[in-house]
Amino acid sequence: MTDSNLLSALHSYQEEVKPYHATLVAISKTKPQGMIQEAYQQGQRDFGENKAQEMTDKHEALPKDIKWHMVGHLQTNKVKYIAPFVHLIHSVDSEKLLKEINKQAAKNQRIINVLLQVHIAEEESKFGLSMEEAKVLVKKEKLSEYPNVLVKGLMGMATLTENEDKIRGEFRSLATLYTELRTHLPSMDTLSMGMSGDYKIALEEGSTMIRIGSAIFGARN
Ligand SMILES: *Cc1c(COP(=O)(O)O)cnc(C)c1O
Repeated sequence: MTDSNLLSALHSYQEEVKPYHATLVAISKTKPQGMIQEAYQQGQRDFGENKAQEMTDKHEALPKDIKWHMVGHLQTNKVKYIAPFVHLIHSVDSEKLLKEINKQAAKNQRIINVLLQVHIAEEESKFGLSMEEAKVLVKKEKLSEYPNVLVKGLMGMATLTENEDKIRGEFRSLATLYTELRTHLPSMDTLSMGMSGDYKIALEEGSTMIRIGSAIFGARN
């Protein structure tokens, strides 16, 4: 993909989220730092990665006002590498991970923002809490054990399918859960759903944050 393709794709997504007051996270995993620099020069500040090591390397090399989003499954032993700087962890899928994030956040004397990843897709392989598990975690008494973590909302991925009704139904069920949980937890203001193939449906169903990778940076190997 040429530079002008990257910039025009990025620009169209930056414009497309505006009427929804949603945030565009450019998913730069596997992509070189030069591409991130170009997007940065066009005003993009939110970037997403799925590996702790890659995110740490890019953080060190690139401008310090970039907001780094962790969107991939995060092993507890990797939390310490990103804890000093990560902006938002989208992929909290266990209480064990929440506990470790709290510990590392405290060590760094900061509060780390997180989303609970909820399993909404049909596929077995995708990580995430069940809706019931997310409800249990959001109960106030549970979260007060983790004062250095702030739960900002939910993240989910729909089934990879051509069936738009199915995708819409999955996003809608996540949005319904989000609305319900917000009444218990006013810090929640983020519903992260929608990727290159399904972001339009996600925005229509109430997404406040879309995660676009290949449609901006080109296909990954
Ligand atoms: C890779 C990834 C994306 C971006 O996917 P595209 O289809 O390339 O837009 C979004 N969310 C998560 C969790 C990812 O791992």
